[in-house]
Amino acid sequence: MPACCFLIVLLVFSGFSTCHGHGTENETVLGNSTVTPLLLVSFDGFRADYLKKYSFPNLEKFFSDGVLVDHVSNVFITKTFPNHYSIVTGRYAESHGILSSNMYDPDANKTFSLSNDFDSFWWEQATPLWVSIQQKGFKSAAAMWPGTDIKIHNLTASYFLKYQHNVPFQERVDNLTKWLSQDLVKFATLYWEEPDYSGHLYGPDNIKEMTKALKQVDDHIGYLIDKLNQTGLWSNINIIITSDHGMVQCAPDRLIRLDDCIGPKNYTLVDMTPVSAILPLTNVTYVYDLLKKCNPHMKAYMKEDIPDRLHYKNNRRIQPIILVADEGWTIVRNGSLPRFGDHGYDNTLPSMHPFLAAHGPAFRKGYRLNSINTVDIYSLMCHLLRLEEQPNNGTFTNTKCMLASQWCVNLPEVIGIVIGVFMVLTTLTCLIIIMKNKGPPSSRSFARLELQDDDDDDALIG
Ligand SMILES: [Zn+2]
Repeated sequence: MPACCFLIVLLVFSGFSTCHGHGTENETVLGNSTVTPLLLVSFDGFRADYLKKYSFPNLEKFFSDGVLVDHVSNVFITKTFPNHYSIVTGRYAESHGILSSNMYDPDANKTFSLSNDFDSFWWEQATPLWVSIQQKGFKSAAAMWPGTDIKIHNLTASYFLKYQHNVPFQERVDNLTKWLSQDLVKFATLYWEEPDYSGHLYGPDNIKEMTKALKQVDDHIGYLIDKLNQTGLWSNINIIITSDHGMVQCAPDRLIRLDDCIGPKNYTLVDMTPVSAILPLTNVTYVYDLLKKCNPHMKAYMKEDIPDRLHYKNNRRIQPIILVADEGWTIVRNGSLPRFGDHGYDNTLPSMHPFLAAHGPAFRKGYRLNSINTVDIYSLMCHLLRLEEQPNNGTFTNTKCMLASQWCVNLPEVIGIVIGVFMVLTTLTCLIIIMKNKGPPSSRSFARLELQDDDDDDALIG
């Protein structure tokens, strides 16, 4: 059926296809490779709707000539380390092993915290992108991205700055652009602590302070673009600017005090708020029963009952009981509110979502996408770097329309094209039938005559 074949061909080339279409991005040929360098930038705690509420002249210029994704659905728990590791591994927290800011591994009897994160043991349930690209013979560079200064599968980033929160943004960028100017450096990561720091300190509803913090973030983006221009990197580098999570306002009248519900001798508090990790020291059911009725704004889950949608169950580092506070509520043992803004809550809450923007030769210009998942960013980056993906939870098709090399049409366009093609084919078919009917005497009459001749011949022979 020619019409069907035509439609199938059309659909295959219209973006329904899952093929990965390599090779049409502009590329710089550096050394023996044809991989365009990729810079991945994270501004910690950049809530998606800050873009609507505040002014970002530099960032807007960046994505108006590139791509903007309004919402990124991040991974539970919506904290810094789990999400930064999900971005570079494509895995949910339960699958990469960096489950929170504070962890306890019962098999190894080891503890992890933000100030005690240097043991490779914690990081090796997955392989981050900078390690994979180095295993292929390229180099990576990193300015403070979580994990880059730690040996993972025996490799740190090729060039890195040891984590120090007080290293200025400009110093981080200056080092990165110096490293990126080298041929083999193909993947670079840059991390900055704002607007997370101000969000915690003042709360995201503090317009005056957040305006200041976000103006500084935008100035930093301006500095980054200027520096990339000065060093000649700007036109030949793909850049992704994103974040790990959002932020929500907390308040002194939204406190959940565990001491009001359970004696401290009954459990060890491995991680605090807004998702508490509880290691019971007495009977698990007894501890759970006390906690589940502790406060209507806090849910208690036995590990095996944690909802599948959170992807936060299948890892030994998840404690036997977890407590999840409602949006804007804070769990404490006792005492007062520790900070005015927080994150870590359910990852379906829009207040927990960050954004993503991208710019560079590989990306479409002026393109806008409603949402992707944090775990999708990894396969996009693997595609950009021509790197084979490690097993992950992301989907390339969710991000591929961001790329200039992919022909993507939306569903209404596809339906329109299919109807249009069907109408054209129907019209053509009708025309052919009409033409046939109106044409000269058909060859069948000649055939009949020939047959008659043959019959005559046969009769004569007979
Ligand atoms: Zn934070």
